[in-house]
Amino acid sequence: MNATDKPKLGYSDGDVCNRAACAGVIEMHKSEDCSCHINPPCFSCTSVTAFCPVCEWEEADDPLVVQEIASIHFGNDFAYVERAKRILDPTKIDYRIEMHSNASQKVIGVYPDGTTRQEVEAVVKGTFGGRFSSFKDGRFEYIAYTD
Ligand SMILES: [Zn+2]
Ligand SMILES: [Zn+2]
Repeated sequence: MNATDKPKLGYSDGDVCNRAACAGVIEMHKSEDCSCHINPPCFSCTSVTAFCPVCEWEEADDPLVVQEIASIHFGNDFAYVERAKRILDPTKIDYRIEMHSNASQKVIGVYPDGTTRQEVEAVVKGTFGGRFSSFKDGRFEYIAYTD
């Protein structure tokens, strides 16, 4: 079976789950300690995660679902970072970048079956090189040196 023939996995409210032929319908966890009456939409309401009530898939435990910095707003004396949810695409080399230290970034991502370390490194290599901290079963972590 070709990777493109796989049924689409459900990630949001009302989607069919499709994990291992699961026919469950994705639901969202309820927000807790909602403070929308003070400052809507509150953090709790914007950070609810999805789950499947049938096979017990939890978005919070799915390494393909990542939070990325979408935009940064500068206030008078603070910066507010807005994060957006993104689902990594394991049919290609796909990744997100996290700050690691002043001189390096941590690259966390996925790759399709049969991809070599060299191919992944060619995409994620830092200005001053880097090294894999893990590379296994379609997932990798790479420390890229930027300084
Ligand atoms: Zn709320
Ligand atoms: Zn399911």
